[in-house]
Amino acid sequence: MLYQSISHKQTHLMTFNSTRNSFLIAISVLGLLHTFFGSSLWWLALPSAIYLARLIYGSASIQSNFHVPATCHADIAEKTIALSFDDGPNREYTPQVLSTLAQYHASATFFVIGKNIHGNESVLKQIDTDGHSIGNHSYSHSFWVDFKSVQGLKNELNQTSESVFNIIGKRMKLFRPPYGVTTPNLAKASKLLNYKIIGWNIRSFDTTADSAQTITRRIQKQIKPGAIILFHDTSDKTIQALKQTLNFAKENGYKIVSVEQLLKIEAYQ
Ligand SMILES: [Zn+2]
Repeated sequence: MLYQSISHKQTHLMTFNSTRNSFLIAISVLGLLHTFFGSSLWWLALPSAIYLARLIYGSASIQSNFHVPATCHADIAEKTIALSFDDGPNREYTPQVLSTLAQYHASATFFVIGKNIHGNESVLKQIDTDGHSIGNHSYSHSFWVDFKSVQGLKNELNQTSESVFNIIGKRMKLFRPPYGVTTPNLAKASKLLNYKIIGWNIRSFDTTADSAQTITRRIQKQIKPGAIILFHDTSDKTIQALKQTLNFAKENGYKIVSVEQLLKIEAYQ
């Protein structure tokens, strides 16, 4: 059984590596053709579209443990769910999320991007003093993060870890990969640095939804004990959807906690 699941995983690893390598080879060949034969750079759109589709698929499939075991929910019967907010700290929206959570006595986990911390140190500090937890969401959140070496990914994690440590005096243990894409290198880097990879099983699509109602309806349809909900503290729609979700949770007897509380693990090293 164990052996089966390991070999199953390795097949997927090869699939990812070959996707990435094919993409790199395709863009190199097209680059050479452009340089030496003047072929149109529009050809680059084709491998890019294929690669983008792969990224989108990867984002949607973090729950399938495609490359790395990611924890995406808790196996519990009691009505408890965790909220997570990615891509902050954000000067405008993070404080609004914090005051909304305080109104409802709810806790959450914020997966922060290292480069967004500069200038928003007080916002980051407030997340911690309000009793919420902070997780790592890489330094650059670059579209190209998939192509980084193990060392490059370790640098991404360490840079953000250092910034957070300098402000709150704690070393993060939770890591949410950018775009939810997990690669073999990313698995290695997070293991070497003792991170626990956290996914989600309810995606609010709050960055692309047309209204707060759409976001709330989607969440209401999927809500269940042990769920981890993915939000982004980057827009007004999220604030509205958060209020509606918190009302819905309250009316339906759901307790809202942070990720480590839901999973009964430590948020810091
Ligand atoms: Zn993100």
